[in-house]
Amino acid sequence: MPDTPITPDVMALPRTVPEGDTNLVGKTRDQLHDMLIAAGTPEKQARMRVGQIWQWIYNKGVRDFSQMTNLAKDYRAMLAETFTIELPEVVTRQVSDDGTRKYLVRIAGGHEVETVYIPEEGRGTLCISSQVGCTLTCSFCHTGTQRLVRNLTAAEIVGQIMLARDDLGEWPEPGRAPKVEARLLSNIVLMGMGEPLYNFDAVRDAMKIAMDGEGISLSRRRITLSTSGVVPEIARTAEEIGCLLAVSFHATTDEVRDKLVPINRKWNIDTLLDALRDYPRLSNSERITFEYVMLRDVNDSDDDARRLIKLIKGIPAKINLIPFNEWPGAPYQRSDAKRIKSFADIIYKAGYASPVRKPRGEDIMAACGQLKSATERARKHPKKSAG
Ligand code: SAH
Ligand code: SF4
Repeated sequence: MPDTPITPDVMALPRTVPEGDTNLVGKTRDQLHDMLIAAGTPEKQARMRVGQIWQWIYNKGVRDFSQMTNLAKDYRAMLAETFTIELPEVVTRQVSDDGTRKYLVRIAGGHEVETVYIPEEGRGTLCISSQVGCTLTCSFCHTGTQRLVRNLTAAEIVGQIMLARDDLGEWPEPGRAPKVEARLLSNIVLMGMGEPLYNFDAVRDAMKIAMDGEGISLSRRRITLSTSGVVPEIARTAEEIGCLLAVSFHATTDEVRDKLVPINRKWNIDTLLDALRDYPRLSNSERITFEYVMLRDVNDSDDDARRLIKLIKGIPAKINLIPFNEWPGAPYQRSDAKRIKSFADIIYKAGYASPVRKPRGEDIMAACGQLKSATERARKHPKKSAG
């Protein structure tokens, strides 16, 4: 069942659809409502039609108006003439030795982003991109070397979920109820390319669609948004999206964090921690994830571990240690396993969960921080490319 929103539903605020935009994917319910009315749907029927079309698109995965069998034939014909149901195009799909799937996805304008599906025992996580490139320039991140090309639209963000479900074969058979067994795509992390809080509205609209109980129906607790620390947008994330939050922390002094995560020069560690202390949570069990990339001799000492614990005192937190994933030309190295263990032990003894993130999909450059839409790279090394 979907969760109750924390605050009044911002999706109820009217927003206009850009002229000429006929794609029904990625529109809020209200936008869809307005589009149907503009196309001649009687006002009295519009709410119901929104619900029906919504279910076809997001619950059943239907792309063809003619298959929307609970709508009158001439209404279906009108829809087909007026509207489209469009997803971004999958250019290549690579499968790692560990089962991780990486999709190179083409969006309007010929730009490309990457989406990664990580299968796990009894569940699966989709890592979604929110921008083409990133305006920020974190020195350890491959995406950060690609300057921002543009923000993704809500359609392009929710479209990544839909194309992954296509590939996983996770839509119900026509005429059958949705599967009840464990979902292949059960969790979403906004940890792909881009800073999601610099594309707030589109990310929010897309996640609201993903959470909508009549459609994809993912619980807000299964969606985690990762930010480098865009402080003014942090409270809004809880209020308007209601998902879980992860923060790319990565350093325990401003001096080091300024270098690793340059947004720190704008909002430093203290300012960020204040915003995190205030992050509204629905229950005590909800923790903020502190992501911490382990860089050899840069941020991985025992003193760092102890400072980290002091800094986050009072914040319900879990600390996710990420062994640095290398990319061509990266100026850092991964801390060795012994160092990571020593760091993790200190944190664990202080009472925090401190899982070390197992790198997934490294052989296809699909691990955290390795994404970059260098089309040439993908084409030169089409490892196990399956179309
Ligand atoms: N822009 C957002 C979300 C995308 S990055 C953010 O920065 O939080 C997702 C996570 O991968 C972040 O914690 C980021 O710091 C981390 N990351 C980036 N490059 C990495 C690398 N080379 N190795 C390991 N983790 C990396
Ligand atoms: Fe952008 Fe996040 Fe990479 Fe920093 S770590 S450059 S914010 S994608």
